[in-house]
Amino acid sequence: MAKKLDGQVALVTGASSGIGAAVAEALGAAGAAVAVNYHSDEAGADRTVAAIAAAGGRAFACQADVGDPEAVQNLFAKTIEHFEAVDIVVANSGIQKDAAFVEMRLDDWRKVLETNLTGQFLTAQAAARTFLRQGQRDVSRALGKIICMSSVHEVIPWAGHANYAASKGGLGMLMRTLAQELSEQRIRINSIAPGAIRTPINRDAWETEEARERLLRLIPYGRIGEPSDIGNAAVWLASDDSDYVVGTTLFVDGGMCLYPGFRDNG
Ligand code: NAD
Repeated sequence: MAKKLDGQVALVTGASSGIGAAVAEALGAAGAAVAVNYHSDEAGADRTVAAIAAAGGRAFACQADVGDPEAVQNLFAKTIEHFEAVDIVVANSGIQKDAAFVEMRLDDWRKVLETNLTGQFLTAQAAARTFLRQGQRDVSRALGKIICMSSVHEVIPWAGHANYAASKGGLGMLMRTLAQELSEQRIRINSIAPGAIRTPINRDAWETEEARERLLRLIPYGRIGEPSDIGNAAVWLASDDSDYVVGTTLFVDGGMCLYPGFRDNG
């Protein structure tokens, strides 16, 4: 049976764990060949590749720091060497280095911006250049698709996380500007903004019963998100089913952005 992304090639950054791994697996299950980028966790990337292969898909792992322009070039070159083209790019890599604002070290501000915002810039730029160079392929209506991994903190301020919230707020405007600039060339760019998803980045928020209860008060839908919730959204945004969706941030957050504090406070 034909699958939604048959014949397409996807590149997912930060796919050795959490959301990136689930997105890579979901794209693979939907028929795409997948380049699985990792930063330092080679074993994690190998697990993602093995999971895709076990489900009948094709994948390979490739190391790169998304904040390093040469490494990003190399990541795209390796993907093309393996799979001959790139159709879908998911710029997922992201880090947190949390601190009260008055104590935040400049290094930690810079590192988060370098990975979460400059990393998105470099990945999206390499993607757009690749799509323009390779031209229209017959596997999709768009020339190419870029999905940026944002966060509900694109819009919700977050005390103690000024660097992270600034990176995601900036990403919102970067994505929309790129969508305005590149969509006439049929490059389709959107973001996914996850709410609280059970991954290593936010282990503190769900690991204990007390933390889980506190977190659930912020989620009207009453459950913590799973990485596969984001994988499913990514498959839709990467496929022609969403061909008319351009420059949008898709919030996948169980209603976290609905100001749940007001629910019991009328
Ligand atoms: P995670 O820590 O499991 O994944 C982050 C990934 O980014 C890891 O694979 C890591 O190796 C990679 N990475 C870090 N620095 C890198 C670099 N310099 N170059 C390449 N890769 C690098 O956490 P996650 O929750 O899966 O996070 C994935 C994305 O989702 C991030 O952008 C994060 O901000 C976003 N997000 C997560 C949540 C959540 O609740 N988990 C919510 C909103 C947004």
